Amino acid sequence: MKCLLANGCDHENATAVADRIIQAEGDQCHSHGLFRLPWYCSAVKSGRVNGKARPTVEQLAPAVIRVDGDGGFAPIGQAAAHQPLIDCTREHGIASLALVNMFHIAAMWPEVEKLAMDGLCAFAFTSSYPYVAPAGGIKPLYGTNPMSFSWPRKDNLPLVFDQASSSMARGEIEIHARDGRSVPETAGIGPDGQPTSDPDVVLQGAQLPFGGYKGASLALMVELLVGAMIGQFLSFESLEDDDGKGDPPKGGELMIAIDPSKHGDPDGFLLRGEKLFEAILAQEGTRLPGSRRYDSRMNTIETGIYIPQSLYQSILELLQ
Ligand code: NDP
Repeated sequence: MKCLLANGCDHENATAVADRIIQAEGDQCHSHGLFRLPWYCSAVKSGRVNGKARPTVEQLAPAVIRVDGDGGFAPIGQAAAHQPLIDCTREHGIASLALVNMFHIAAMWPEVEKLAMDGLCAFAFTSSYPYVAPAGGIKPLYGTNPMSFSWPRKDNLPLVFDQASSSMARGEIEIHARDGRSVPETAGIGPDGQPTSDPDVVLQGAQLPFGGYKGASLALMVELLVGAMIGQFLSFESLEDDDGKGDPPKGGELMIAIDPSKHGDPDGFLLRGEKLFEAILAQEGTRLPGSRRYDSRMNTIETGIYIPQSLYQSILELLQ
């Protein structure tokens, strides 16, 4: 929070970003936690990101909302969008939200988890910089284009998955490179198109989608929903916009929220969901998506957050 304030955010914007970073660290999703702070601070300091953003909410159609993030970081726009999306979804049974003109949509479980805490089912999609080769190609074209989904539960935290359409998230590859660890060969290829387990070579070459052409089609879908449909950048346009500075990507996010109680089985859907979860967990070796995060959340409440000394030093430097 102090670092963001010292580098040009006002209190409201710094709080929104700091809350997201703390959430990510709390759930041990380090690639969206404090690791991002120097990047965020330098983008505000250079004036690329508006640290004093005031998002605006607009109704485009009865069940379609657009929130303009005023060139700020995503969390402040997402916070402004939350209640209007709930209200619109409750009224119509389903609603979509175009979040535009904001920087770095990070992990997307927080926004869908929050909607499921309010009884809704939700999807979120975003594109970013071109890192992933299309099926059969060797040059980066798609973003790592994540998608998240949430389902409310009766007496439990929501079921949430949040996954990149690449085999590995970019931030995870960067963290492996920083820590001198290798990555699985499915993560990417070098500039010569050959598989490699060296994260630095993958970062110079291209990442691969998960599941071959099937993951590539999901990445393509996300480009269309976010880049084309809501008028934000395709991933390669986003890189052109950044002009080689390496700042957080400017872009948007499409969210779709559904009120499951308005889809024909208002009294049964929660129990039917639980029945499915029980059947999954009855098999040895399974777990539900999101359960690692929830376990981590409980652990960090007790143990606190640990970060590498090098990161700690660079955070201290942000205060100077
Ligand atoms: P992972 O592959 O680590 O996990 C993807 C999902 O699968 C999670 O919901 C995870 O739950 C679940 N999962 C993992 N293992 C199992 C298992 N054995 N059984 C059931 N479920 C399982 O995530 P990614 O590396 O693909 O993405 C990491 C994060 O990076 C995401 O939050 C994503 O949104 C973000 N990202 C953001 C981008 C951006 O441009 N903004 C780009 C790409 C990624 P759990 O969390 O409990 O482990």
